[in-house]
Amino acid sequence: MNKQRARWTRRSMFRSATAAAMFGPLFKGTQGSVSAQERVNRNSAPSTLKITDMRACRVAANYDYPLIKIYTNQDVYGLGEVRDAGVEGIALILKAHLAGKNPLDIEGNLRRLREFANHGRMGGGYSAVDMALHDIAGKVYGVPAYRLIGNKNHDRVRIYADTTSHPDPKVYAERMRKRREMGLTFFKMDLQSSMLEDRAGALDERGVCTEKGLGYLCEYIAAIRDVLPPGAPLAADHFGPLNLNDSIRYARAFEPYHMAWAEDLLQVSERNQYPYLNWEAYKTISDATVTPVLTGEDIFGLEGGFQSLLDHRAVDAIHPDIETSGGLLETKRIADYAAMCGVQVAMHHAGSPIGGFAGYHCAATFGNNFLAMENHALDMPWWQDLVTGVPKPIIDKGYVKVPDDRPGLGLELNDDVIKEHLRRPGYFEPTGMFDDVIVSGFRTGGPWPHYDETGKWCNCVTYE
Ligand SMILES: [Mg+2]
Repeated sequence: MNKQRARWTRRSMFRSATAAAMFGPLFKGTQGSVSAQERVNRNSAPSTLKITDMRACRVAANYDYPLIKIYTNQDVYGLGEVRDAGVEGIALILKAHLAGKNPLDIEGNLRRLREFANHGRMGGGYSAVDMALHDIAGKVYGVPAYRLIGNKNHDRVRIYADTTSHPDPKVYAERMRKRREMGLTFFKMDLQSSMLEDRAGALDERGVCTEKGLGYLCEYIAAIRDVLPPGAPLAADHFGPLNLNDSIRYARAFEPYHMAWAEDLLQVSERNQYPYLNWEAYKTISDATVTPVLTGEDIFGLEGGFQSLLDHRAVDAIHPDIETSGGLLETKRIADYAAMCGVQVAMHHAGSPIGGFAGYHCAATFGNNFLAMENHALDMPWWQDLVTGVPKPIIDKGYVKVPDDRPGLGLELNDDVIKEHLRRPGYFEPTGMFDDVIVSGFRTGGPWPHYDETGKWCNCVTYE
């Protein structure tokens, strides 16, 4: 076969495969019962698929869950979640930049939104939109969301949970024993220096542990190690207002306990930058200890976010939260870049199952550098009742199975349960106040008052 012929043959095969993927759900629809989402009319899909609306509600939970829906002109919709403890407005202000656009142009849509995203809760709108677009695209193409960004390298995602602290090491260890009984295999403890407020000589005037205080903190770790399986991964977080030298002292004190990681040690800003972006300080800490050092739950994006930490091997592991870091597409980029740099990836998560499954789909595509993803709702029984369509219990013996039998994120909202837990009245109500552009890097609209070609002033603005 000559080269020209081979090329055309491959192209034809690609076209056939694309068409099969595109219309797969339609073929399935003739074979038996299918969900409403799979019966979407795609007579003109996907080239004329358009975003028509975005609406939201907020679940009152341990950290509140702002949820969004992106609607299209063909009934298929996508679900997304803004960062826990954030507000839905950070997503809704993006609606005017998405209206009329094809939701399948995921990269193009996100590129236009990038200037409106930042670290912390300010990454929540961009991230929620990314999730909803992947939900829509998965439903249209008839594939699970992970398939849109990579291969399923993990059939199930390992879960870790934090454990609420208690000043009495025995009570604290009992709480951790209950986590083990829940089936978890990866553990995390909050190790606040403030637990030692009543112990003489434990804290300095900044609330940071003295050497004596560090000894007490290590007693908590030892008590908790005693109730966990030998060698079980155990991480720690929330140490207090540590500066760079404090961070080194703490990390060195933990070395005999082989922690999975010490999280967000550095809390004091330098040069007005977020501590988690201070790669030079994190590099200094990491180089001074063998305790694995981790940060990143509030970082948005690879460029301008995780990249410097990774380029300089400033931490042993990063900890993106998919509701801040940029959703599936950006978090996959971050994790792949981390793998290239030999840095491990854990995932922070304190949101609902919507953001949870976005994270599980994303983590399924990570390489062997993936550690575990957090769940912050083990003590909240209705957490998993917020959604339908996924196997329950969602967390089974410390793992979540990555769904591959349903398109998109693979779940639906359980309207009745969500309505029982709304922060304020209103369930995906119209959002006409966000139809016009509210935030923009440059003016939009027009026409603009100007001097015309004859030098005459033209006042083009009219108000009807
Ligand atoms: Mg944390």
